[in-house]
Amino acid sequence: MDMHALFGRTLPELTELMAGLGQKPYRARQVFEALYKQRVGSVEDITTLPHEFRDRLIAEGWRVELPEIAQTATSVDGTERYLMRMADGETVETVWMPDGDGGERGDGSEAAEEESSEVVGAEDAVSGGYWSRRGNGRDRSNFGTLAEQGFRRATICISSQVGCAVNCQFCLTAKLGIKRNLTAGEIAGQVAAVLNRHKIQIGKDRINLVFMGMGEPFLNYEQFMQSVRVLAEGIGIPESRMTVSTSGILPGIEAFAKETLRPKLALSLNASNDIVRERVMPITRKWNIAALLEAVQKIPLRTREWVTFEYVLLGGVNDQPEHAREVLALLDGMRAKVNLIVWNPGPGIDYHQPSPEDVAVFQKMLINGGIATYIRRPRGRDIYAACGQLKRTVAEEKPQLVAIAAAV
Ligand code: SAH
Ligand code: SF4
Repeated sequence: MDMHALFGRTLPELTELMAGLGQKPYRARQVFEALYKQRVGSVEDITTLPHEFRDRLIAEGWRVELPEIAQTATSVDGTERYLMRMADGETVETVWMPDGDGGERGDGSEAAEEESSEVVGAEDAVSGGYWSRRGNGRDRSNFGTLAEQGFRRATICISSQVGCAVNCQFCLTAKLGIKRNLTAGEIAGQVAAVLNRHKIQIGKDRINLVFMGMGEPFLNYEQFMQSVRVLAEGIGIPESRMTVSTSGILPGIEAFAKETLRPKLALSLNASNDIVRERVMPITRKWNIAALLEAVQKIPLRTREWVTFEYVLLGGVNDQPEHAREVLALLDGMRAKVNLIVWNPGPGIDYHQPSPEDVAVFQKMLINGGIATYIRRPRGRDIYAACGQLKRTVAEEKPQLVAIAAAV
């Protein structure tokens, strides 16, 4: 939020800033390298700048301003959930998942190929057993490179807003309402803070990003897209390793279709017809399934790119064979894959988990109908880090329910 934050600015913006301070353009490049390649934590650490200039920047109030990791929770499966504190004291959550959660399987990306050998069964997805078995006994006290920790890759799940205005009935974040948008620097800064914590070397370690934390990225479109540019051009994570998930904000999908540099898209379908979807995602009244699918089909897909449809399985609500048949009809002819997410419980949310049998039947029906369908590994359920379980865990007053202009 701070007008003097450096992190989050693109090279042209830094060039303009340096020009305004009477500096040569190469200074902008030095700041850019320090912010995004070295991931420095303070202006003092930008050692390529002369001392006097650093002192002047500091005196004039310029700061790097990475979010601060205020709290950490570690799951038996190695997942870490962070409470990230912004400069104004607002907090969001960010999740680190060594080895990912299987979300990218079958979407045509390089990241997907690394995932494809691992299969998650319905039983494990409901019980979380697979990861408890794999995670137990691993010593995570020493942070080394990912490989030294025994992992080949990691996925970072980042937040785009403080809270969320899209009132999905099954999601814990929805309970917060929306407090404010994050800036591009605050979105990309979550990644830098986590990379620093794990001493990640981009280029050596394989990092995937998912914009699937708190908030609806497409209701904070400009800052979200700017964070993508910073992460790709600055930090160096290719956009083919990023996936943004939307609950279905039609104008956002339409704008996204026109972007040249963009992540892959995941649409939270979550129901097989408008009646059920309106019940679980009231935003459907504004943009129905047909309108969303039409907009998604207008996105020019890159070679081998597939659109992901997320489908949260809610026991007895959307997990029956008739629903699977409807999903098949909806996605007929599309370059689509489906990620089934077994609903993660949360306090005060009145849904049930599906039975492992229903999950297995649902998956089988979609696969037999010709749609690549995967079950998302539940990660960090024991620490409330799984999908839809993110909320600010600090002791605080009841969050304000402030509507933002773009909110529905
Ligand atoms: N706001 C965006 C991205 C964040 S949510 C969106 O809704 O798409 C990421 C995914 O988690 C979405 O597919 C959402 O439907 C799913 N989700 C939300 N609450 C969940 C819960 N309690 N259990 C499982 N998945 C959930
Ligand atoms: Fe917001 Fe996504 Fe949760 Fe819906 S599922 S309330 S859009 S974070």
